[in-house]
Amino acid sequence: MADYDIVVVGAGLGGLTTGSLCARNGLKTLVLEQSDIIGGCCSTFEHDGYHFDVGASIVELVRPLEMAFERMGKNMSDYVDLVPCDPIYSFITPEGNRFTIPIDIEETNEIVKKMAPEDYDNWIKFEEFGMWLLDYAMEALIATDMSTFSRALKVVLKYPKIYKMLPYFLKNHEMVVTKAFANRDMLASVSFQSFFAGAPPYLGSGIFGMIALSEHLGIFYPRGGMIAIPRGIMEAGQGFGLEVRTGAKVDRFVVEDRAVKGVVLSDGSTITARAVASNLNGRVTYLKMVGPDNLPNWAFKAVSSYFNSMPCPMIYVGLDTRPDLNAHHTIVTGSVEFMNEVWDKYYTKGLIPENAMSLICWPTETDPSLAPDGHHILSWICNAPAPYSPLGENWDLIKDWYGEKAIGELERYALPGARDHLTKLLVSTPLDFERRLLHPEGGIYGLFSDMTSLAMFRMRNRSLAVKNLYLTGASTHFGGGVPTSVASGVVTADKIAQDFKLQG
Ligand SMILES: Cc1cc2nc3c(=O)[nH]c(=O)nc-3n(C[C@H](O)[C@H](O)[C@H](O)COP(=O)(O)OP(=O)(O)OC[C@H]3O[C@@H](n4cnc5c(N)ncnc54)[C@H](O)[C@@H]3O)c2cc1C
Repeated sequence: MADYDIVVVGAGLGGLTTGSLCARNGLKTLVLEQSDIIGGCCSTFEHDGYHFDVGASIVELVRPLEMAFERMGKNMSDYVDLVPCDPIYSFITPEGNRFTIPIDIEETNEIVKKMAPEDYDNWIKFEEFGMWLLDYAMEALIATDMSTFSRALKVVLKYPKIYKMLPYFLKNHEMVVTKAFANRDMLASVSFQSFFAGAPPYLGSGIFGMIALSEHLGIFYPRGGMIAIPRGIMEAGQGFGLEVRTGAKVDRFVVEDRAVKGVVLSDGSTITARAVASNLNGRVTYLKMVGPDNLPNWAFKAVSSYFNSMPCPMIYVGLDTRPDLNAHHTIVTGSVEFMNEVWDKYYTKGLIPENAMSLICWPTETDPSLAPDGHHILSWICNAPAPYSPLGENWDLIKDWYGEKAIGELERYALPGARDHLTKLLVSTPLDFERRLLHPEGGIYGLFSDMTSLAMFRMRNRSLAVKNLYLTGASTHFGGGVPTSVASGVVTADKIAQDFKLQG
């Protein structure tokens, strides 16, 4: 008899969601996490009294989260206190133009009317149609398995008006948002969200062009830091007997006759399981944990054709004063052409861009308890995307320089005089990210997400190549993101329930 019904490898959002729901379904479930902290990219660490988020800085589209708790018969609000953030963001151009976008769509319309009167009519049309579509599509697509054409067709048959969404899957992000804006700065302010899915506007799926609108449905920050989300999911699961072990690194899966039988930990011990759910990067799952020798040739080729997602250097800053910002998120970037150029001329050529997109997060605006009294924190994606290669291990050598450069830019574009109030400066390079989470090359969203790597083109939640193997999290459809990784966790738990002939 196996030690566990299900072993989940990785306590990221996908892993914990799958684990908790499996426990809720009566399966003896163990989650193994190599780090001492749960949550993966959606987590928080303490440093001298400052509580910095590892990566994710807000959550929007909270329905999958609510759904995960509902599936356990729980209320999300009993586990996670989501505080609304309004405005959505403040936008700063390199020339110093600033504007701020509130949640309220009517107020946003007024801002557009003032800043880009030539775009007003197009924006209103885009906004009205987009809001309707989001509402409709949310119901249809949330936590829906889209792993085959026939499953996607079933969704279309059940929600026939979803066909109106098709153009968004066929177009890129830039094509979608140019429907709304010609004004350079307004267009840029709805284009940078393409990087939220890990691709520049000309490569990102058009479906992510809707993020600019979906944010008007609300963006939220959990009290206690982003770790409050995975912790809430874990605690709900523990109520059903879920076991979670941190500091437990899995070295490989036990595979016999193309079926997974358990995992081998780095201390040499083996844990057997009826099935394993991997929350790791999909390439790592197959090429390292399962191993090429255990894969059919077609699967090896298919898996090798995926690329890792882009890395992002992060800057974590402590300040002894309240920063002169006016939103949880401040974005500093140039035009949409500039964003595409950063990808083509710098990132893909292995060069660090001079100035690219920076996303400054100010968590203490929403939850002051994250810093000592009177102090604030900023966590900052700085000049992203910046490549892992060819620097590799040499990222260690330029870390201090990168931190200095980041502070210089913070002062230049957003917060003059910030250096005089600096009490803490930590830099997390792509190499640090790789070391912390074992994400190859520091990739932040598992696998690269462009128009050709979503739905049935992304890695499946139930492996086709290896029996008893499931995948959960950012490497599966819909890719990286807090709600999407949770949704993937729900889909995977459903698959396991089906295969184990449980109610789900
Ligand atoms: C810088 C950054 C900013 C982001 N901003 C946002 C945002 O604002 N909003 C949003 O919605 N999303 C954001 N995201 C994306 C979101 O955080 C992630 O897509 C999501 O959290 C990924 O969840 P996951 O389930 O794929 O697991 P991951 O977070 O990838 O976790 C995987 C876990 O597996 C563990 N692990 C790895 N190898 C092993 C091993 N061998 N043995 C055991 N355990 C192992 C890791 O330590 C990790 O804990 C951001 C991500 C980053 C990095």
